[in-house]
Amino acid sequence: MTRSATETDLGRTRRARRIGRVLTETHPDAHCELDHGSPLELAVATILSAQCTDKKVNEVTPKLFARYPTAADYAGADRGEVEEMIKPTGFYRNKTNSLIQLGQALVERYAGRVPNRLADLVTLPGIGRKTANVILGNAFDVPGITVDTHFQRLVRRWGLTTETDPVKIEHEIGAMFPKRDWTMLSHRIIFHGRRVCHARKPACGACTLAKLCPSYGTGPTEPAAAAKLLKGPRVRALAAAAGVDPELVPAQAVQAEAP
Ligand code: SF4
Repeated sequence: MTRSATETDLGRTRRARRIGRVLTETHPDAHCELDHGSPLELAVATILSAQCTDKKVNEVTPKLFARYPTAADYAGADRGEVEEMIKPTGFYRNKTNSLIQLGQALVERYAGRVPNRLADLVTLPGIGRKTANVILGNAFDVPGITVDTHFQRLVRRWGLTTETDPVKIEHEIGAMFPKRDWTMLSHRIIFHGRRVCHARKPACGACTLAKLCPSYGTGPTEPAAAAKLLKGPRVRALAAAAGVDPELVPAQAVQAEAP
């Protein structure tokens, strides 16, 4: 999606904020979908979530967190045992390396605690800028924008940016919203990407953003066809919010989990 040549920067920011307000109403359940009870647990879960669904990560982590409650436990963990426990999340050898090295780095440099500054977090094994922002926003209440694949796709479809570099996108979108909104905005955009505005076939005809989105029509606009594409536990409410008869949502979709 290219930007509109006629839209001013101010107009674009106003539209972005309207999109943000509609998303607040559309996804009142938006939250970090990785189960965690501490910054360390969230750091571990985000490392495991690379190339894996949050649902699968949440299946693996209760046993892992119980077995390795501290950074020192990961630092001294038996590699084979960790690999076996996290195997279902894929890329388990690399992820095991990251977890053990993360534990070692935390013990050596941060007295076993996860630091709460972006500059420190990104120096840790397995933690890039995206992961660091997830940890800041959700474990420390420090506002952070999480530019994952859904976020990138949606802000480009909305014509809010033409950037492809995640750091540039983070800065450009961040400038359009108050800092205090960054974390929840990220969750809501990611929820919309998982439940409505899919990569292949977005549910344009059942989307609350239809009037604000220059990419309306990328997916089916006919309500019955679009309603079938909605995903997640709130499919009927999502259809109703977009003005679509919730009865058009097939029964099996009501049960389906968002990817
Ligand atoms: S109108 Fe279509 S392309 Fe635009 S946000 Fe909604 S689902 Fe995505």
